[in-house]
Amino acid sequence: MAVQPKKDVVIVGYGAAAGPISTELALAGYSVVALERGPHMTTKRDFAQAQLDTLRWITRGGLLPPFRDLPFTFRSDENDTARPARYIMASMVGGASVHWSGQSWRFFEDDFRVRSTVLELYGPERLAHLEEDGAALADWPLTYEEVEPFYEKVETHVGIGGWPGNIQGNLRPVDPNEGNPFEAPRQNDFPFRPLRDNATDLVFRHGALQLGLHPFHVPTGITTVPYLSPYGVSRPPCTYCTFCTGHGCWNASKSSSLVSLLPAAEATGNFELRSNSQVIRLNREGDRIVSVTYVDTLTGEEHTQPGDIFYLGAYSFQNIRLLLHSGITSNGLVGKYFMNRAMPSVNAIFNDRMINGYNGPGVQRQGIDDFNGEVFFEKKEQLSDDDFFIRGAFIGSPSQRNPLQTYDMLPDDVPTWGSGFKQHTRENINRLVGLQLLCEPLPYESSYLDLDPNYTDEWGMPAVRVTRQAKQNERRMARFIHDKGVEIMRAAGASRIFGSPEIQPVASSEHDTGGARMGVDPTQSVTNRYGQMWELPNLFVGGGAVFPSMAGKNPTQTIWMLSYLTADAIENQKVDLEDAEAYT
Ligand SMILES: Cc1cc2nc3c(=O)[nH]c(=O)nc-3n(C[C@H](O)[C@H](O)[C@H](O)COP(=O)(O)OP(=O)(O)OC[C@H]3O[C@@H](n4cnc5c(N)ncnc54)[C@H](O)[C@@H]3O)c2cc1C
Ligand code: SF4
Repeated sequence: MAVQPKKDVVIVGYGAAAGPISTELALAGYSVVALERGPHMTTKRDFAQAQLDTLRWITRGGLLPPFRDLPFTFRSDENDTARPARYIMASMVGGASVHWSGQSWRFFEDDFRVRSTVLELYGPERLAHLEEDGAALADWPLTYEEVEPFYEKVETHVGIGGWPGNIQGNLRPVDPNEGNPFEAPRQNDFPFRPLRDNATDLVFRHGALQLGLHPFHVPTGITTVPYLSPYGVSRPPCTYCTFCTGHGCWNASKSSSLVSLLPAAEATGNFELRSNSQVIRLNREGDRIVSVTYVDTLTGEEHTQPGDIFYLGAYSFQNIRLLLHSGITSNGLVGKYFMNRAMPSVNAIFNDRMINGYNGPGVQRQGIDDFNGEVFFEKKEQLSDDDFFIRGAFIGSPSQRNPLQTYDMLPDDVPTWGSGFKQHTRENINRLVGLQLLCEPLPYESSYLDLDPNYTDEWGMPAVRVTRQAKQNERRMARFIHDKGVEIMRAAGASRIFGSPEIQPVASSEHDTGGARMGVDPTQSVTNRYGQMWELPNLFVGGGAVFPSMAGKNPTQTIWMLSYLTADAIENQKVDLEDAEAYT
């Protein structure tokens, strides 16, 4: 087994979370190596225009790892045997930030204090009722005000465009019709505007305005102007090619760790990227990690990579899997309080107009936050005890309705394949709007990640097993949000509306969070506010695993934000690498 030269910082995986910390610490003069199990694909070579191919990248999952490489199983009841499930996150340099959609959010202020907000708004009885149902609500050890500068850094450095909804308390300060008036206050405007509207957006917007709601164009991690980031990385504007979600962008317009951050890290001369390098163990001596063992997936050779500081950036599932496989459990807390979301569905057909939803990237969308977080708590207080729920959902109108991707957006009387499917698609594909209903999941005692006793990969490492249920709060919320989506489509003039208010638990929702929750109490959490493990102070956990609660929003801007926060804490010695309790 070859032992590689020691580095200051060893990063496991190179996806979204790994990007900011790699660049920032390399810029600060640390020697950094990132070990990424997937290949190093590039915009020019692998995502060129000639390769715009939905069958290859989406239907056949061209960027997804096969089961034998990252085995993954799922069950909704802990008494059941888990079954193999499809791993839906890209495994490559840049991770899933390469094939993401780019819908990019700051969380609400109260997303960081869910438990306290429930107590303040609804009282101890409601909280006790949720806890009886197994909910384990917690506040983050961070406030929105503390992380706001790091959210801004993501917008400027990774590249996020939008209309501001709230600059320092001024609502919709740039355009009275644009921006999300419910967003948390920002100090400064976005660096550029989001994508323009298309017909899908205008239909949704019209319906929402009819109901007195507050539609806005969602912030997007896609450049809409030639953009030169503060790192000196320049990228061209989006061409609205439509081969977007599920694809790597052929034009480098979709912001990602691959195109926004890697060039800046490499330019320092302090950063080394080793692709095709799968970490299989974290090696511990006392209360420190001293090295990782990884396999070169092309040759099968094992290597040891020693270092001083270690950062897990391998996505929630693989971060937890590596910790548990290396015997790191934090007294049984590692893997607990896993969250992913199950979503109801609302689809609509408009006989009187051609919408051409196949036009534009998936994230070219309008949306509303009127029913998200606790924005509408007064309405919820009026619900009966049998309907009451906490938290809420973003409702939006995605584009990129490509025929091969709409097989799961069909009325009950249409088959998912064959001539019936083709006829329905021919007649309706240009008249279809399908909503996104991003319901916020709660953390539960009964939802967790652990190692599967029945499946391993070729290096003998057990699969990660997901045990997750959707409970009363999720089911009630799904019904309420579904009905709001139906009302919006009806108000927009839909001829036919179909879908379901019922939800089924899923293995992965692309927004898989929890499992190593951060907190203030080392006996109740796995890491401190900087993702630094209480048990092993030179090991930091990145990505969504550290989230104590989720939001009715996508997580990636928060994942990038936390990575900047951790980098800042290391660089400015806000953390003590010998003692995780001695942070400032
Ligand atoms: C189709 C799709 C659309 C999405 N759209 C949005 C969106 O619009 N907005 C949003 O906010 N989020 C979106 N997401 C989610 C977003 O992609 C994730 O939140 C984000 O990528 C997670 O970042 P991460 O760094 O934790 O993991 P990833 O970005 O998945 O990176 C993890 C990396 O670690 C590597 N790795 C895993 N195990 C090992 C190992 N043992 N050794 C070495 N390397 C390893 C993987 O190969 C991967 O490259 C989407 C996801 C998908 C799949
Ligand atoms: S729609 Fe725009 S961002 Fe998406 S892949 Fe095409 S050019 Fe890139």
